[in-house]
Amino acid sequence: MSKEVVDTISKACAYGDFDKLKQFFSEDPASINQPDESGYYPLQWAALNNRTVEVNYLLSVGASMNAADGTGQTALHWAAVRGSLPVIEALMRAHADHEMRDNRGYTITHVAAQYGQTAVLYHLALKWNVDVDTHDADGRTPLHWAAYKGFPDTIRLLLTLDARYTLADKEGCTPLHWAAIKGNGEACTVLLQGGSVNVLTYKDVTGLTPAQLALEKGHRYLGLHLAEYKRKQDGDGLFGRNGRLSWLTNTQLAPALWVYAVLLSTTFMYKVMGSTQSEPTGQLLSVFSWSVVISVALGLFFLYKTTTADPGFIPTGADTNSKDKDIESETSRMLSSQHKVLDSPALWAGNWGQLCVSCRIVRPLRAKHCQVTDRCIEVYDHYCPWVGNAIGKGNRHFFLVFVWLELYGMIISAIVGLVQIQAHLHTNRINMSTMAWLVGFEVVDVFVLIATAALAIAQASQVARNVTTNELANWHRYKYLHGPDGSFVNPFSHSCWENCTESFTPAQQKMAPVYLSHSNKLHAGSAGNV
Ligand SMILES: [Zn+2]
Repeated sequence: MSKEVVDTISKACAYGDFDKLKQFFSEDPASINQPDESGYYPLQWAALNNRTVEVNYLLSVGASMNAADGTGQTALHWAAVRGSLPVIEALMRAHADHEMRDNRGYTITHVAAQYGQTAVLYHLALKWNVDVDTHDADGRTPLHWAAYKGFPDTIRLLLTLDARYTLADKEGCTPLHWAAIKGNGEACTVLLQGGSVNVLTYKDVTGLTPAQLALEKGHRYLGLHLAEYKRKQDGDGLFGRNGRLSWLTNTQLAPALWVYAVLLSTTFMYKVMGSTQSEPTGQLLSVFSWSVVISVALGLFFLYKTTTADPGFIPTGADTNSKDKDIESETSRMLSSQHKVLDSPALWAGNWGQLCVSCRIVRPLRAKHCQVTDRCIEVYDHYCPWVGNAIGKGNRHFFLVFVWLELYGMIISAIVGLVQIQAHLHTNRINMSTMAWLVGFEVVDVFVLIATAALAIAQASQVARNVTTNELANWHRYKYLHGPDGSFVNPFSHSCWENCTESFTPAQQKMAPVYLSHSNKLHAGSAGNV
């Protein structure tokens, strides 16, 4: 760009040509407050292009910070379009009016939401206490706009700031209605997680619910998903609260696992161990047989521990709020707690995905919101329906011991079963009933053994590497597991011994941090690579 092209003060501001700007000002000081032929002010052009030096200069020589163009927008509105944080900060410090509305009633917060500038909303709310839940001329809040445009991160932040998700605009549409109209699936999901479930029954002025609107606009999958979500919440359907198969989801599969384990071990004790009593089975076989019974019983104890232990639930925002009793007024207590929650390095770094809109917290690394238990869980591994609990930092060691004890029991009982079959084949008179029990036991035992062995080996290997099932399955989603070249790096892995010790002493382990810098990951070293 040759300097000759910069022939107006607007261009000098847009391109950031400071010398030219000073020259134009010295030639005609009034020019800084004159709009160009399109009606836009030099300060707006500088703000849009994040020209902090030029903005500061214009403010220092008397540019009107609240000058509005033909649409009623000011430099603050324009700065929000590209998320020019340093410019917004300069304008706010100069006392620019952040409540100024354009012709459609938009403040800077609406514009920021329309362009998905989550960091701008965060900065305005936390640093300047700006109301991010104000409505425009059509009754739409920044949350409506973020839902309409499909910015899940912006929705996460606004919901955590207690934006009203039930508020209907002039057309009777809540943010969920707009997300459904535009077919923004992830926006719908975040809104529902944040509490918009009741909104599923709200009707707009044409009498349509979000699900119906999605279907009408051709978003068939989303429409059906929203309708199904509603049915599940109501408890209808086969697996709903009132459904015929509800017991399956209510009690999970844990009782089935108990019945299976008890039946199999009883069969082993009465039909396998003693099946060839007439033959000398040998002391060694007897010792091994009893070790099976003991390992299964011990395993069931650890299954009980896995089911009943706290898997690592992280206190929710509401829990934290109720502890802040020293702050008197309810409103200031809520505001202060939210700000405390949101004042986090994870958000300074723009990792909005760590905001949990259900728990209203910033999740530490390695944690995940469990859909079944509806809580965030530290070092989340997976939800196990057979155990009836999530597996996380608090009970992963119990789970591992349970699986290995049962695996031991199954392997030894399979061997004992084979020895008994062989011994039985060598007797003079083969009892078909005994043989059927032995073979039947062997088949069932080996079948489950294979699945258990796969699980036991996977879990042991993950504990040794200090990585979870969730992290391995979804590592591409987690920035903290990405090395400089984009490959998998585990910053939490140390030596095998340390990793195992860490897993087996959850009470002694601090919660994972909310943020790891790039250099932290570089120092993770080769031990963390897989
Ligand atoms: Zn959560």
